[in-house]
Amino acid sequence: MTTLFAKIVRGEIPSDTVYQDEQVTAFRDINPAAPTHILIVPNRVIPTVNDLTTDDEQLVGHMVLVAKLLAEQEEIAEDGFRLIINCNKNGGQVVYHLHLHLLGGRPLGPMVVRPKA
Ligand code: 5GP
Repeated sequence: MTTLFAKIVRGEIPSDTVYQDEQVTAFRDINPAAPTHILIVPNRVIPTVNDLTTDDEQLVGHMVLVAKLLAEQEEIAEDGFRLIINCNKNGGQVVYHLHLHLLGGRPLGPMVVRPKA
């Protein structure tokens, strides 16, 4: 199976890549929602959080630690940032290749828009 993000990982589609190792690739979101908006993706295609298994525990931990490293590099660690993984339709997932959003550089507001009462 290939995905848009797998093509970015392999360098077949251009991206502003900020980090890569044998497990993950991180690149700037094409339509940033904040001054820093980086996507951290596994190099191997895993469509959604629903597809993770216990074999992926180390990988998921690594994704979070790479996010921490990049937050430091982007100088947003101290002020704070947000990590998001969307899953499926109700989670707002658009690209079906697991990815962790790293967002920061401004106050990000409420975590979820609450429906009007
Ligand atoms: P999702 O809604 O699936 O959690 O997030 C997908 C993200 O991928 C969106 O924020 C979108 O802007 C980003 N995106 C979609 N296509 C591309 C692309 O071709 N390149 C990059 N760098 N980001 C993309």
